[in-house]
Amino acid sequence: MQTRYIVVLGSLLSGLGKGVVTSSICKILEFYGYTAAPMKFDGYLNYDCGTMNPFRHGEVFVLDDKSEVDMDFGTYERFTGIDITGDFSITGGKLFSEILKQERKGDFLGRDVQIIPHLTDLIIKKIRGISERHRLDFLVVEVGGTVGDIENSYFIEAMRQMSLNEPMMFINLTYVPKLKAVGEHKTKPTQIANRGLMQMGITPHVLICRAESRLTKEVREKLALFSNVHVDSIIEDTDIDNIYDMPIWFMNQGLDRIIMERFSMKRRSPRERLVEAWKSHTSDGRFGRNTRISIVGKYVNLHDSYASVIAALEHSARANRSGLEIDWIESDRLDDYSTAESLLGKSDGVLVPGGFGNRGINGMINAIRYARESSTPYLGICLGMQLMAIEYAIDVCGMRGASSTEFDPDAPYKVVDIMPSQREVDAKGGTMRLGSWPVVIKRDTMAWRAYGNERANERHRHRYEFNNEFIEIFERNGMVFSGMSDDGKLVEIMEWKSGNGIGTQAHPEFRSRPLAPAPLFMEFMRLSAESGRSARSLRHD
Ligand code: GLN
Repeated sequence: MQTRYIVVLGSLLSGLGKGVVTSSICKILEFYGYTAAPMKFDGYLNYDCGTMNPFRHGEVFVLDDKSEVDMDFGTYERFTGIDITGDFSITGGKLFSEILKQERKGDFLGRDVQIIPHLTDLIIKKIRGISERHRLDFLVVEVGGTVGDIENSYFIEAMRQMSLNEPMMFINLTYVPKLKAVGEHKTKPTQIANRGLMQMGITPHVLICRAESRLTKEVREKLALFSNVHVDSIIEDTDIDNIYDMPIWFMNQGLDRIIMERFSMKRRSPRERLVEAWKSHTSDGRFGRNTRISIVGKYVNLHDSYASVIAALEHSARANRSGLEIDWIESDRLDDYSTAESLLGKSDGVLVPGGFGNRGINGMINAIRYARESSTPYLGICLGMQLMAIEYAIDVCGMRGASSTEFDPDAPYKVVDIMPSQREVDAKGGTMRLGSWPVVIKRDTMAWRAYGNERANERHRHRYEFNNEFIEIFERNGMVFSGMSDDGKLVEIMEWKSGNGIGTQAHPEFRSRPLAPAPLFMEFMRLSAESGRSARSLRHD
């Protein structure tokens, strides 16, 4: 099977949405019945994203197979529905560590080891390996960073070399600014950026132009002329309400036809059934009512830190036929419980997401207490479950000073403690409990209502865990342990007997897809939407 390659590059600045473009191309190919998968190259020298701070880099996304990868993989999975494996993520760190291992073994005896050809050959070998192992019709390769960065230059060079022997297509995503004072789109930055790419021996086949408003015919013609691209291959990427509309938006501009022509493929039609299913979800996104969810965390200033949580909330709101309004609440602002009513009083639901370290913990505990006491639906994710346990220990079970050994190693009640398997682990990279693990669900609980099944699989990323010594006393005080690991040793889900709040040690947001929202988010959203409705009708009375 001959795999075809589409390489997505970006020019001028980051944040243009290469991940969405890459995913949309995969989706279009899927509409046509092809097997297509996205992969990413990241030039940084970290082995993976596991040790990166979400403040700097956005969310660390976790795959089924334990890989900790760039947040773009979340976008890939949400669009394509594929459970991607870690080999689809190539970083500078992985490449350099592999090449140095080979060098130490003596694989290059007598030679000086060089970026070209040794590193570039390794890249090509890896990419061919992926397409063979996964038997792909198309591999869509996103190159992280922007053209001109030193970090990704050897990767772009490898793609150039590969294009001499393989069917390949280059797409450059660029930005076309509009100057207010002049009132027109300016093409010069893109002209210069394309020159940079051409100096590297690559002429793009398609330009995707990010712009805040539609481009005129003249601007498109100018871009085409200076970039060596046919005017029909200037594709617009303007701000749209719903990113999941992007594949359709690109198809309306003929990107599907351009791809087929580039690879001299027979014209065929997309499978209407697949297109319609996707459209039915993406279009008609307006619902009369918004459900207001407060996210209480410490990285709230950078929403990218919680990209999958936002996506899962959006998926579940839509499936519940409700709009969504997120209130971002920096947990430090809730340090004093007396602020809770004014900050959270209008929320239909409260969510505490995952996190590390003890800054902001107290505010999150206060948010949970407020939700419990005011019967506001609550969803705790990973750290959010651990804090749900700590709040319950202190406020309901009367264990003053209860904490997690992560925050207070000398706490009198260590209701959350380091997992036994983690005690001897010193190295920080890739050593947490990671990836997909089965969860066994107890009947007639909120968790059961959510999953409708005795077993679920969710992804994880944690070192600490509920301390089982306290299960009995918690149960006596009304906490329900509704999900356990399949060996029965680790608490996976706990919930309040009231049926209003639930916490999970897992990260269900990583598996949420637009057409299949994460079950716990669905249940949380259903409760929140209902609580919003009844609060509003009370206010009306
Ligand atoms: N810091 C906690 C732990 O390591 C929670 C992790 C998380 O929220 N992802 O267990």
